[in-house]
Amino acid sequence: MSVFVVLLGAPGAGKGTQAQRLAARTGLPHISSGDIFRENLKNQTELGKLAQQYMSKGELVPDDVTIAMIRERLSRPDCARGAFLDGFPRTPVQAQALDDMLAELGGRVAVVPFIEVPEEELVERLSGRLICRAQGHIFHKKYRPPKVPGVCDYDGSELYQREDDRPEVVRRRIRVYLEQTMPLVEYYRQRGLLVDIDGTRSVDEVTEALWAVLPDEVKQA
Ligand code: AMP
Repeated sequence: MSVFVVLLGAPGAGKGTQAQRLAARTGLPHISSGDIFRENLKNQTELGKLAQQYMSKGELVPDDVTIAMIRERLSRPDCARGAFLDGFPRTPVQAQALDDMLAELGGRVAVVPFIEVPEEELVERLSGRLICRAQGHIFHKKYRPPKVPGVCDYDGSELYQREDDRPEVVRRRIRVYLEQTMPLVEYYRQRGLLVDIDGTRSVDEVTEALWAVLPDEVKQA
């Protein structure tokens, strides 16, 4: 049976950074719905152009489009043992769709770490965030500067600021998160899957806190 870890938390809580690290440590794939939309936008696909209309405003891409995209992604062979999900699900409809998809695929959600960071800190983190063009590696102007300014430490590609990390859009994204994604905290808490993680600590400390709550079946997947 495949095992999935759903990382919950506001934009800027550290889901992407932590998912990259946990994926590297376990060998399970890191699946970021935002990365897939951005990749599609870069390649100017129909999906990318559609998603952009919502992303640029800090709104969510409609559930049916997002669910279809994730369904296709999770059915690929590299997800046969499971994956770390970052940014999906983001609404109760998506959470139900994930449960249905995993039931079909013979998988399940093993744990849902909820990474909590106060709102003021989220704005500070997002406004200084830098992303690598080639693979989405994440840096921060102040808290995690690259060795060479503007260049990714890992693959040498250019670092850029996401259009939706501008302050006006960031505030909208946080509001959308509070309204549409926060209900998932209760959804997973009721199922006994939620684990609270203090996201204000250092990146290494948060990684270790997450590692400590991963079930053995994820570590050995
Ligand atoms: P992220 O990289 O996770 O911050 O996502 C960037 C943007 O992509 C979001 O602000 C949404 O517009 C869109 N997006 C990503 N994941 C989802 C999702 N699960 N449902 C709807 N929209 C999403």
